[in-house]
Amino acid sequence: MKMLELLPIGNFDARLLQNMAPALADAFRVPCRIAGVRLDPQFAFHTERQQYHSSEILQAMQEYAANSAWRVLGVTGVDLYIPILTFVFGEAQMGGPCAVVSFHRLMQEFYGLPADPALLIERLVKESVHEVGHTFDLTHCDDYACAMAPSHAVEWIDLKEVTLCANCQGRALEAVG
Ligand SMILES: [Zn+2]
Ligand SMILES: [Zn+2]
Repeated sequence: MKMLELLPIGNFDARLLQNMAPALADAFRVPCRIAGVRLDPQFAFHTERQQYHSSEILQAMQEYAANSAWRVLGVTGVDLYIPILTFVFGEAQMGGPCAVVSFHRLMQEFYGLPADPALLIERLVKESVHEVGHTFDLTHCDDYACAMAPSHAVEWIDLKEVTLCANCQGRALEAVG
């Protein structure tokens, strides 16, 4: 059965996943459930950077995905990176089945501002739709308001909608089948 599963990576309040699941189910018109297990990301921690290598996390998710859902989105509060970049908000495998997203730099607290739980969920949904979109072979979109527009800072995320533009939506639904 086609199912998007949210896999918590590391420890955080599970209500975050419950809050984002309906928006993801809606975006891709597939059921979205929360995994009953949790992945410990410690193996991907690199002391020299004090960050977690997102590609290593994606690699570890493969095994889980093989016995699990059709698409798996890992969600984590740890700071992710790939070697050529200072950080990444997330990473995905083009064409699936796995993607990972971090809310570490989506929290207002990261920028020295007061917490804003509603804004956090909104940003997390946008970045989750973006990364899951890549697993459906969607590439970056020129429409700045589309969830598939690239974002290198939270200001860019805030310009986007939680939804896909008509073109990306059409391609995603075709891929979902
Ligand atoms: Zn992207
Ligand atoms: Zn688009």
